[in-house]
Amino acid sequence: MTAQIIDGKAFAATVREKVAGHVARLKEENGITPGLAVVLVGEDPASQVYVRSKGKQTVEVGMNSYEHKLDVETSEADLLALIDQLNNDPQVHGILVQLPLPSHLNEDLVINSIDPAKDVDGFHISNVGLLGTGQKSMVPCTPLGCLMMLRDHHGSLSGMDAVVIGRSNIVGKPMAQLLLGDSCTVTIAHSRTKDLPDVVRRADIVVAAVGRPEMVPGDWIKEGATVIDVGINRIDAPEKGEGKTRLVGDVHFESAAARAGAITPVPGGVGPMTIACLLANTVTACCRANGLAEPDGLTA
Ligand code: NAD
Repeated sequence: MTAQIIDGKAFAATVREKVAGHVARLKEENGITPGLAVVLVGEDPASQVYVRSKGKQTVEVGMNSYEHKLDVETSEADLLALIDQLNNDPQVHGILVQLPLPSHLNEDLVINSIDPAKDVDGFHISNVGLLGTGQKSMVPCTPLGCLMMLRDHHGSLSGMDAVVIGRSNIVGKPMAQLLLGDSCTVTIAHSRTKDLPDVVRRADIVVAAVGRPEMVPGDWIKEGATVIDVGINRIDAPEKGEGKTRLVGDVHFESAAARAGAITPVPGGVGPMTIACLLANTVTACCRANGLAEPDGLTA
């Protein structure tokens, strides 16, 4: 079998189009422009790139983008004061604090100071609890993107065996909750799992979120399974020239594609969906804040 490639770049473009359409309607019919505030503390180069592209895409779908760049030495009190101001600003419907924060700042405290209704990253403890109990919440963007791609490919996921490799709070755990919410039989595998190959071989759906380059070989994949590769790993690529690198996922793409029914590539799979889902969450938060109907197909 040769797997169907799930094109995350194209799918993310359709999500952004839907968001842009809804934003246009909100402006025209309700006089409301959704707004996303992104807070960056310090000058971590990767975070700067993410924040820039979040801001750019926010504006491209017609929303307001508010960027707050704070000095690396910013005190916790000053950061909390800014979040309080954003919580109370009616123009701001979504707040995202770019992680990781410098080590003198308590990440849990900061995230839990965001109004849960504006917590478009879905990391606030209230949103974690709401998701875990199957209630309406803000859903973390990367797992939401994975769910959208799975629903788009399969329609119903009910009764499927899903294995999530990785148990982080930002990907693995919320991904497992979402799959459970769609009535999959879910196994969460992690670094202490016994006989991981055997566990993965049972799966109709494999979501790999580990951060280890190509650790899942094709012969762990059940024939016809759907493979969602969340991993983004930069490895040396001497074949491209001296000092060159390339991105690979947590799954060995070629061998897995030879067995899977469908697979996401890296790059161009899950990655582009994450910011698209951030925009989707912002428009959802804006609708909820204004008592308006939420757009279809942009939430869990
Ligand atoms: P993390 O380091 O927080 O968690 C990794 C998880 O993998 C842990 O729960 C650990 O138990 C598990 N693990 C480690 N070694 C293992 C092993 N040998 N076998 C089985 N499980 C093992 O990472 P994360 O934040 O969840 O991110 C995972 C990957 O996804 C990274 O490559 C990251 O860059 C990528 N990521 C991509 C996006 C995106 O937008 N596409 C977003 C977030 C994370």
